[in-house]
This record gives sequence, C-alpha cells and structure tokens, in this order.
Amino acid sequence: MSKIKIRFFGSLIDLSKKMQVEFDAGINQSIKDCIERLGVPHTEVYFITLNGNFVKFDRIVSEGERYFVYPECDLEVPSEYVLTPKYEDIPKFILDIHLGKLARYLRMLGISAEYGLIDDNAIIDKAVSEKLIILTRDRQMLKKNEVIYGYIVRSDTPEEQLYEVTLRYNLQKCFNPFTRCMDCNGELVSVSKQEVLNRLPEKVKERYEEFAICKQCGKVYWGGTHYENMNSFIEEFTRNLINK
Ligand SMILES: [Zn+2]
Repeated sequence: MSKIKIRFFGSLIDLSKKMQVEFDAGINQSIKDCIERLGVPHTEVYFITLNGNFVKFDRIVSEGERYFVYPECDLEVPSEYVLTPKYEDIPKFILDIHLGKLARYLRMLGISAEYGLIDDNAIIDKAVSEKLIILTRDRQMLKKNEVIYGYIVRSDTPEEQLYEVTLRYNLQKCFNPFTRCMDCNGELVSVSKQEVLNRLPEKVKERYEEFAICKQCGKVYWGGTHYENMNSFIEEFTRNLINK
C-alpha cells in the first residue's frame, strides 16, 4: 500500500466531492487508476502535476506523494502532458439513454446530439469513430480507456443540464435554432409548400407558407404554437445564461 494525497481543482471537485483526498493506493497502481477510483473519469482530466512537475496517466504512485489534478483550463501545458486534448471543432455530442430531454434541447438549438443507442459499447464505438463527445451520468462509461471525449453531466434537471453543457463547451456561439430534426438529429432544409402539400393537415395548408424537411427521416416542419413556445424558451434561456 502507498498512502498518497490528491488535490482536485475546479469542476473536478464536483466529482471527487472533496478538494483534497488521502488515498491508499495498491501496489503498482497508476495515478490514472487512483483518480478514477475516486470517481473522476480520465476524460475530465486535463493535466496532473507532482511537486510542480507534469506527469502522465501511467505514472506509478509511491508512498507520500502529493498530486494536483486539473480540469480543462487556459494554463499552458506542454502538449505531451495534455492528458485529454481540447475539442477544437464545433462540438458534436452523443448522449446516453437517460438524457433524452437534453438531447432534444440541444437539437432545438441546432447542436448535433445523437441519441437512442442503449448499449454502452455501441455508444463508445460511435463516439470514437465519429469523434463525438459523450454526455452521460454514468461514470463507468467514461472510465473505458478508448473514450477520449466525455463529460459527466452534474445537474439533475434537463434545463439545468442545458445551461451546464452550454457553459462547459461554450455552445452559445454555435447556436443555430430550428436547423435540426428534433426526432432524429438530421439537418433541416427548406422546401416549397408545393413539395409537401399532400402531407399537410388541412389547417396547416391554410395557415402556413414556409416549410422545412428533415434530410434524414423526412419529417416536415412548419411554424405554429409549438415553434413560438420554443422560441420564447430560447430567448429566456439566452437571457438567463448571462447570470450563470
Ligand atoms: Zn429527422
């Protein structure tokens, strides 16, 4: 057994529940294993130091050592010691089966949010092959070595989860409301009324002139009270974001 101390910073404390933890590590245990045993998946760790020196995940811990563990931040870190690279493109997500409402909110705002796979391994395979960020409440899923991008959603309610993910990934600048299908995440394209006329309910035919269709599943979209409700939700959400 090696007794070590680990100090967590920033958003990692939400997961470790303590800023500083004294920990009995097993023999030949890596710092990555220690951190994950304390509830912090590797995907949330940006870099680690030991006595002011950067270390990697495979460092084997020894008696009396004291580690500092940091989440993603603006501090300058030599690239070989960046343990989880920053996601540089427009964020694209895949959500676990318990986050359906959050997936629909993200789609409403035009953010790509894949949803519907139940099996953890299927979610991980898709995330790895398509370079998607996994959003989940299940820490075990993000502890799998092959997962690169992943985030544990802390909040319990879908609205709070939307604020949390928006702030974490700076999504405001990527918002593009009503450009994605709420049902399947496909992209919407404008179509003429004529093209969809035979698929519209009578009342819709009389009242609306602008339509869009999902490229993936073919669902037809138009304005209406549902659209107005979503619009006021987005306005209020964007207003409140400033105070978060
Ligand atoms: Zn669709």
